Amino acid sequence: MSMKKNVVILNRLAQDLVERLANNFNVTQLQPGADLAQTLTGPVHGVIGAGRQLGPAELAGASELEVISTISVGYDNYDLDYLNERGVLLTNTPDVLTETTADLAFTLMLTAARRIVELDNWLRAGNWRAGLGSDYFGCDVHGKTLGILGLGNIGAAIARRGRFGFGMQVLYTANSRKPDLEQELGAQYRELDALLAESDFLCVVVPLSERTRKLIGQRELGLMKSSAILVNIARGQIIDEAALVEALQQGQIRAAGLDVFEREPLSESPLFALNNVVAVPHIGSATHETRRAMAELAVCNLELALQGDTPLHMVNPQVRER
Ligand code: NAP
Repeated sequence: MSMKKNVVILNRLAQDLVERLANNFNVTQLQPGADLAQTLTGPVHGVIGAGRQLGPAELAGASELEVISTISVGYDNYDLDYLNERGVLLTNTPDVLTETTADLAFTLMLTAARRIVELDNWLRAGNWRAGLGSDYFGCDVHGKTLGILGLGNIGAAIARRGRFGFGMQVLYTANSRKPDLEQELGAQYRELDALLAESDFLCVVVPLSERTRKLIGQRELGLMKSSAILVNIARGQIIDEAALVEALQQGQIRAAGLDVFEREPLSESPLFALNNVVAVPHIGSATHETRRAMAELAVCNLELALQGDTPLHMVNPQVRER
């Protein structure tokens, strides 16, 4: 006789964390190539993982489902209305990934500004035979204007790097004004159009939602400086990628640093043909330390929820009040 609740693990988890879960729950690992909806059909109480679309099509058969613990801060993959309707709790992993993701945003800014990837390739191709001409010069980062689209946890961590490490002027937009951060960072609020027009570096750090989908399109790119560098570490669908390719091809903006794309994984793209693009495969939080911390936090959230305790981070805490 087993009273244990059932948990499905969607991604690869460290062995010790799998064992920790197995102490308290019956654990099933989603097998590569297995049908997600079918694996989730039956008395599944908890799901842990990331990077998969979960809505009615996947979850309809999981009649006992209590909690989904996502190993991410973003939750655009989950049909929140459906989860709320079903009374399924969604937990996530903010904070532990903030600094690492901000590091990557800054890496992309610096790499694009100083043309690191392009010149690394140039060097390796045997082109360094004489002094470097100004055709290969980059642009300064320090002292420039840094625009933060979404001054939340990660946006603020990027802004601190810019303000205190690089002497940058910080401008931002968000749903609401941030008086404390304005004070700390000397940051100034701007409406989106002004933010676009004034920024030398624009970092996109808003969550993907119906309000932010394709927030940056042809019109918005047209408002940016031709010397501006655009960095997206949020979600690909926030930027109209076809419009971005065109803007980069035509020199409407100088360069882009991209961690995220409209479609992922991405093995072919017109972006890959552009020298003024630095592209990495969604590695915002992908360090050993941070991915470990995220997995531990997600396991913790899952355990607490299934034990009837309060998880550390809940996206839709209201479902517990019913
Ligand atoms: P957060 O603390 O919730 O910050 C989000 C910020 O965006 C808030 O300041 C919010 O404003 C603002 N915002 C939301 N909707 C907006 C809109 N329509 N217009 C203007 N501003 C808006 O989240 P976070 O931890 O910083 O993470 C942000 C996002 O980064 C996540 O949702 C995730 O998609 C992405 N991310 C990506 C990676 C990666 O691997 N590339 C890693 C981590 C996170 P208010 O505060 O005024 O509501």
